[in-house]
This record gives sequence, C-alpha cells and structure tokens, in this order.
Amino acid sequence: MDIIFDLIEKERQRQTHGIEMIASENFVSDNVMKAVGSVLTNKYAEGYPGKRYYGGCEVVDEVETLAIERAKQLFGVDYVNVQPHSGSQANAAIYLAVLKPGDKIMGMDLSMGGHLTHGSSVNFSGIQYEVVSYGVQQETGLIDYDQMREVALREKPKMLIAGFSAYSRDLDYAKFREVADEIGATLWADIAHPAGLVAKGLLNSPFEHCHVVTTTTHKTLRGPRGGMIMMGKDFENTYGHKTPKGEIKMMSQVLDGAVFPGIQGGPLEHVIAGKAVAFGEALDVQFETYAKQVKSNAQALAKAMTDRGFDIVSGGTDNHLMLVDLRNKGVNGKETEKALVLADITCNKNMVPFDDKSPFTTSGIRLGTAAITTRGLKENDMDTIAGLISEVVDNIKNEEVLTSVRKKVNELMEGKALFNY
Ligand code: PLP
Repeated sequence: MDIIFDLIEKERQRQTHGIEMIASENFVSDNVMKAVGSVLTNKYAEGYPGKRYYGGCEVVDEVETLAIERAKQLFGVDYVNVQPHSGSQANAAIYLAVLKPGDKIMGMDLSMGGHLTHGSSVNFSGIQYEVVSYGVQQETGLIDYDQMREVALREKPKMLIAGFSAYSRDLDYAKFREVADEIGATLWADIAHPAGLVAKGLLNSPFEHCHVVTTTTHKTLRGPRGGMIMMGKDFENTYGHKTPKGEIKMMSQVLDGAVFPGIQGGPLEHVIAGKAVAFGEALDVQFETYAKQVKSNAQALAKAMTDRGFDIVSGGTDNHLMLVDLRNKGVNGKETEKALVLADITCNKNMVPFDDKSPFTTSGIRLGTAAITTRGLKENDMDTIAGLISEVVDNIKNEEVLTSVRKKVNELMEGKALFNY
C-alpha cells in the first residue's frame, strides 16, 4: 500500500489524541467525508448546471443544484455560487466582479484581525488594488467604527469589506452599510469564520445590509474545505455590468462569470457534494444545538482563561474564537504555539492589535471552539483546557511538565470520536 495511507493514519491519530483549538478548523461527518472521497472527483464539469462545456454532467448537475438549493435555504438568500475552491477563490471572484485593478478598497488591517485577501500587501488584493484599512481601538479591542467612517469618507474606497479572521465580536453590518452608502461603495461581508453561527441566527445577519457575502465552508459551517458566494435578492440589480458587446448583465451573472471562467476552470464536484451534505446537516435542528454549544464553549473558555490571568482581547467573545494577548505572561505567541503542540494542543500564534512583535513571533495566540465542540466537549471541559494551557504557559521550557500535560490531554480525548454530533 502507498506510504501516503500510513501518513493519513498518522494524521488521524494526531487529530484524535489532541485538543484542536485552531479557530479555522473543524471535523466533518463521515457522510461529508464519503462525498468528498467519491467518484465525483473523476468528473469534469466546466460551466454551471444545465450549461456545461462537457458531456455526462446530468448527475453532477443534480448534485450542484442540491448544494445551491440547500445553501439558499440555510442562509435565506436568493443567489449562491458553490464552485469556489476555497475562501480565497471566492474572495478573488468578488474583486474581479466588482473592481478594476488599481481601484481602492478598505478592509480590516491584517494585524488587527483582518484576512490576507482583504488587502494585505503580500496578497493579490494588496498587490493589485490600492488599500486603506480600519482597525480596533487600543483601549477596548473593539472595531473603531468612527475611525472607519472617517477614513472611508476621506479615501472613498470603491469597496468596503466587513469580515475578519481574528476578531471575537459580532459585526454591525448596518453601520458598515451606512458608511458604504455615504461614499457609494460596494459592501462585501466575508463571514468565513462565523458562517455556521450566522446560519443559525446566533450572530447578526449580513444579508440585508451587504451587497455580496462570501464564506468558507469548512470552519464553523463544518463542511469540506471550500468557498461560496451569496447574495440577497435586493442586490441582484445593483450592479449592471456592461459586456464588451454593450449588454447589461445581472449581478448574479457577473459573479458566476467571475468564478468561471474568470478565475477557475472545472468545479470540484466531489467537494460540492460534500458541501451539499454539510448544508443538509446544518439545516437540521441538531446543528443549532451544536452552534449554540460552540458559542457557550467559547464564552466558558474566555472566562476560564481570564480567571487564570490571561488577557483576552476585547475582554471576551461573541462568536467561536478569541485572541489571547500573552504580553502579561512574559511569553510570545511563537514559543507558546510550539510548547502547546508538544502538549498535543494545537492553536496558532497570532498578532494582537498594536503588536510590537513580528507576524513570525507575535504576542498572542488565537483559540477557537468549533472543532472541540464537534468532538463533544462541553463548558466544564473548557475550564480543564484553560488549566492545561495555563500549565504549559507557566512551564514553557519544562519538558517534563509538557509531557505530563500531554498525558492529561490524551486522557481527556480518549474514546472521543472526531465527529460527535
Ligand atoms: N476569509 C477569511 C475571513 C478567512 O479567515 C479565511 C481563512 O482563514 C479565508 C477568507 C480564506 O479561506 P481559504 O483558506 O479557504 O482560502
């Protein structure tokens, strides 16, 4: 047998024995896994259901249509494109659909919690577009909406981005829209992180305020790795685009064209099938219980960490994640991430707002509860986990302690399946 399967088994063991705190990860169900590992991977299907550039697409047409219909129902939207291979691809399609190279955009600064694709200088978004950004207030760790408006009115970006990778609070989409309207900008929400909580109404909905919305499908939404674009009916006619022949296109046509043939070729129908399965699961009432548990676990973890003297940026969380500022503990994010890995706890180092350390070192770590909730952990386990993290941070160079914490971690996870919902 190919050695790759030994490595896959090794990775399964790693995932099973450890505590997974990476805020952007989750564990999918066996059914999602089955769909993604199916014969659908063999099929080419450039185009969209009913309008393909290849023969034999009757079955994948049904698969993709089901994925679209379920996503529409789940988020209560009128337009969905399930083809983006990843969150970044979904985002690239938005840029292509809405802007011309060189146009100005405004997103949350990467060092304050934004994502690479929201204008980072090392990403296509920062390379091809002019970027201005907003951030959080130093004292509160909360988005500074006044500063955002001030910069927006002065700089007049063509597109405003509401979204984050490392911000633990809900977003005021109505406020973003007010500002976007003042300058005639397109408002795009990237809900890659909180999508599962948004789907269940546990966080503010972006759909009535934002022109377009993108997400990943693999974080709190608990599907296979991938991306998706959504839009409410009201925005369908907002941006008629003229083709070279002079015809006006609907926004949905423009978005579809931006994904294929704009930035992608053949869609990954096996992944789209996995998305359809995950959306079906998310429509079930069980997913609501899951999403509520993700949120309560995050709140319990933030409290348990605070009780142990950790500084949580903004003082808590409304969603599934939190940023821990480690400066008062005398350790940095890089060494903490490394020590936690030795104790079988995975998380990622992360810059905190107004960080004085580089992105390679950082002053913080980001913790999330989506994955450990899927494994069946509850509020009381969050106290145990905060205790284990604290032990690691207090003994960051003590291999004996790290080994003993690892033992406790493995005991806690013993007998727990990856997917327990
Ligand atoms: N947008 C946000 C807000 C994200 O946090 C991420 C991933 O972390 C992405 C987009 C990109 O997703 P992907 O890694 O699938 O390209």
